[in-house]
Amino acid sequence: MTQLTGPVLLALALSGAATSDHDSSKACAAIASALPNLISFPNSSPYSSHNIYWSARQSEARPSCFVAPNTAQDVAKAIKILTRQNIPFAVKAGGHTPFEGASNIAQGVTLDLANLNAISVALDRKTVSVGAGARWINVSEALDPLGLAVVGGRSATVGVSGLILGGGISYFSGSRGWACDNVRNYEVVLASGEIVNASPRVNRNLYWALRGGGGSNFGIVTRFDLASFDQGELWANSRIWPGALNRTLIPLMHDLLVNGLPSDPEAHTYFVMTYYPQLGGYLVMNDQYHATYSNTTSPPDVFAAFHDAALPTLLTNTRLANVSRLLRDIEQPFGMRQAYWDTSLAATATPDLLLDIVPLWEEQVALLTAAAAAVNSTVEPYLVYQGISSNILEAMQVNGGNALGLKPEDGPVMIVQLSLTWSNPALDEVVETSSKELIDKVNALAASRGARSKNGYIYMNYAADTQDVYAGYGRENLARLRHVAKRYDPEGKFRKLWRGYFKL
Ligand SMILES: Cc1cc2nc3c(=O)[nH]c(=O)nc-3n(C[C@H](O)[C@H](O)[C@H](O)COP(=O)(O)OP(=O)(O)OC[C@H]3O[C@@H](n4cnc5c(N)ncnc54)[C@H](O)[C@@H]3O)c2cc1C
Repeated sequence: MTQLTGPVLLALALSGAATSDHDSSKACAAIASALPNLISFPNSSPYSSHNIYWSARQSEARPSCFVAPNTAQDVAKAIKILTRQNIPFAVKAGGHTPFEGASNIAQGVTLDLANLNAISVALDRKTVSVGAGARWINVSEALDPLGLAVVGGRSATVGVSGLILGGGISYFSGSRGWACDNVRNYEVVLASGEIVNASPRVNRNLYWALRGGGGSNFGIVTRFDLASFDQGELWANSRIWPGALNRTLIPLMHDLLVNGLPSDPEAHTYFVMTYYPQLGGYLVMNDQYHATYSNTTSPPDVFAAFHDAALPTLLTNTRLANVSRLLRDIEQPFGMRQAYWDTSLAATATPDLLLDIVPLWEEQVALLTAAAAAVNSTVEPYLVYQGISSNILEAMQVNGGNALGLKPEDGPVMIVQLSLTWSNPALDEVVETSSKELIDKVNALAASRGARSKNGYIYMNYAADTQDVYAGYGRENLARLRHVAKRYDPEGKFRKLWRGYFKL
């Protein structure tokens, strides 16, 4: 980018902006003076390349400028200017949040952390330091050749930051907990611009809060020091069955969560139901992983029931693969409109509850299919079941536990997630309202069977912006999170200026 200074810069900043954008454009100009070459303005190619998000709902926002810091010190300089001038801003890492305004902002400044992408492995191979702008494929491509892995995401371009800060479900969670449970240290820029570390030794409350408590209330994390471990190829199997088999598969899935997975912590799995007329209508899809098994001719015992000949598949694929290849296998294309909603259930309830959710979801699918047909378009609907088995809950308790409020004594939990993909903005409203209604119905059904999870936990990384995520962390954890936010941002600058996502 050409270096621009003084009045020329201010004129350029203001020329690309609406009047109501005036203040943020002045802030952009001030940041450009402090951080020459790290800022881009509308109608330039660097700006367009920052404004790429997984969900089209996010890339529609047009910030007055993007700022792309190279170092934690650059982040601190930008934050000082934004907080001093009271300028609303957003922070983008991997940009994978589905809803608008989560990591981009209209009439404000978006900090894109993409350049904070350094990855370095400690000499003892036990810690990998990862810049906050890295994506999981960057991490695995650095670690696979070394025979190392970390507890991280399962899709290539998802950001390291957002996934860890909200929790982080991984192939390795059965033995090691979620990604947030495997951070040794966070480097964080506070609202004051001060750069601090948070670990089990320093700023312990902040360390606890950043383990699942989300980023946007506490500070901008600029580096994660992650626990790494030796890891070869994983065993992986993907299966697709006709939807009609769900009456057999769901009880098996329930048994796997309650009994099977705790008996083999190296195993990991999730189930996805979808409606795909080209393959005959409703489908059940299942990905199974095992971190140490290597026989491709028969499955590990924990998954044997799903490989029974009485459950004929439409498609199956077994492979031994490194993390990078697995991440690419479930990469989702950019540029469509996206929505996530979720809730969770006490998995100790009978499998009937999980079965009875399916017809409720099918009602939503019928509604959305009709609404899409009316505007000559389509919607891809997914109902996802991902369990948090008792072994995962136990692994989450290391180093003082995380902020999520999930305890082994409350029993395993099933996350029920809705994921929707479409292209026509005319469908936005019906997608959101029907998803809210469905989640309300699932919660009511679970309550009537005594099967709401404790506190009604909602996984932040799969939640819609209107869901009350923090209420699900429990009253005590919510009070502690608020206390930490106040301690590290006493003037509430982040609460006021850092827009989007979930606020305490
Ligand atoms: C295709 C796909 C696959 C997924 N797979 C998984 C999975 O395997 N496991 C799982 O648990 N989840 C998964 N998710 C959910 C994912 O974890 C969340 O969407 C996550 O928030 C994405 O992070 P991001 O950095 O890409 O998003 P962003 O939208 O960039 O960031 C999310 C939020 O975090 C804030 N933030 C970003 N960086 C920082 C930082 N450095 N400091 C403080 N705050 C920050 C942003 O401001 C924003 O509010 C997946 C999502 C998708 C779309």
